[in-house]
Order: sequence, then structure tokens, then C-alpha cells
Amino acid sequence: MKFADLGLSDKLLQAVESAGYTEPTPIQEQAIPPVLMMKDIIGIAQTGTGKTASFVLPMIDILASGRRRALMPRSLILAPTRELAAQVAENFEKYGADHDLQMALLIGGVQMGDQIKALNEGVDVLIATPGRLMDLFERGKILLNGCELLVIDEADRMLDMGFIPDIETICSKLPEPRQTLLFSATMPPPIEKLAQKFLQNPKRIEV
Ligand code: AMP
Repeated sequence: MKFADLGLSDKLLQAVESAGYTEPTPIQEQAIPPVLMMKDIIGIAQTGTGKTASFVLPMIDILASGRRRALMPRSLILAPTRELAAQVAENFEKYGADHDLQMALLIGGVQMGDQIKALNEGVDVLIATPGRLMDLFERGKILLNGCELLVIDEADRMLDMGFIPDIETICSKLPEPRQTLLFSATMPPPIEKLAQKFLQNPKRIEV
């Protein structure tokens, strides 16, 4: 299959070409079309399979086709560690460079002031670790009720790190209906339960 067959915009196909990718990986081939159709998915894939692009690419198209509302982030990507969140943000910058989308990276170990300033300027996508997001939310610095697209990345690592209660709290603050994408290398019972609770009729993709 070719990237051009997945339903991405011409602008994104150019970004993919600039990145030097000649063909989609299996997770990209299977995840990108349903994500563009606004479906929920469970993607069972390890790091290194190209899973980040499998959600970042269609997200850019979805966000670019809608309008930003001041102070209301439209999407949220949760990652278990600072490093992983930063990596997702780099992907967003790389593929979304020509799209006028604003991003805020909310991770620990960074001054909150700059993050709050970014939030106040209007953001399309929040990329966050659960701890820092909860902290900012509890201080009243974030409105989550505009986040109609949620990605939970590396859910099994979130479980290992004790983040499931935070994720449940965050999910309960998000609007419904919304689109939810969950990625995990493995699907232990607590992650199956989380998916059952917060995803609607998800398409399951295993690579
Ligand atoms: P990830 O699994 O998201 O951590 O991606 C692993 C690596 O694969 C990253 O360095 C990406 O830049 C690269 N990558 C992602 N998609 C493709 C593709 N379709 N073709 C070649 N490399 C890719």
C-alpha cells in the first residue's frame, strides 16, 4: 500500500515525502484510515513500528480541518514519560511544520510559567505526561472540555508507572462524544478494562 491510498491530505503527503518515508508501516496502513474516519482504535504495537506517525499524521489533518477556539485545546496526547512526550512533540513539529497548529508540551522538570503562557495563547494539541497535566488542571490552568480527540500512548507503561487513576480522572474531564486512540505494546487486563470504559466500539489493530 502507498501513503497516497490512506486518505491523508496532499500537504501531509509532502511532509511524509520530506521525511524520506517511501511506504507506510503496517500500523500506519491499518490505523490512519479509521482515525481519519473519526473512529476509536486500540493499536497494539511496540515502539519502532512507526506508531507515533500512525496517530500524529491523521491528527494533523483532523486538526487542520477544524478551527482553534481560544484557550480550549482541541486534542490531548498523554505519554508516560517526559522523553516520550518530547519525542511525540518532535514528530508533531516535523510533520506539521506547514500547518499553523499550536502545541504545548506539558512535562515535569520544566518551568510551569512557560507552559501556562503557551496555554494562554491558544493551543490545538496538548502533549503531556499525566502528572504535569493533573497539576496544571488542579491549579485551574487548563480547560479540557474542548479536547474531542484523546491519544493514550504506551498505556501498558502508564500502568507500570501507576498512572491509571490519573488517566481515569483526566478521561472523566473530557467531553463526550470524542475520539479516543489507545496504543499499547501489550494488553494486560487493567488496560483492557480502561479501553472498555473509555473507548467507543474501537477498531483493534495488532501488528
Ligand atoms: P516509532 O515507532 O513511532 O517510535 O517510530 C520509529 C522510527 O520509524 C522513527 O524514527 C520514525 O521516524 C520512523 N518511521 C516512521 N514511519 C516510517 C515509515 N513509514 N517509513 C520509514 N520510517 C518510518
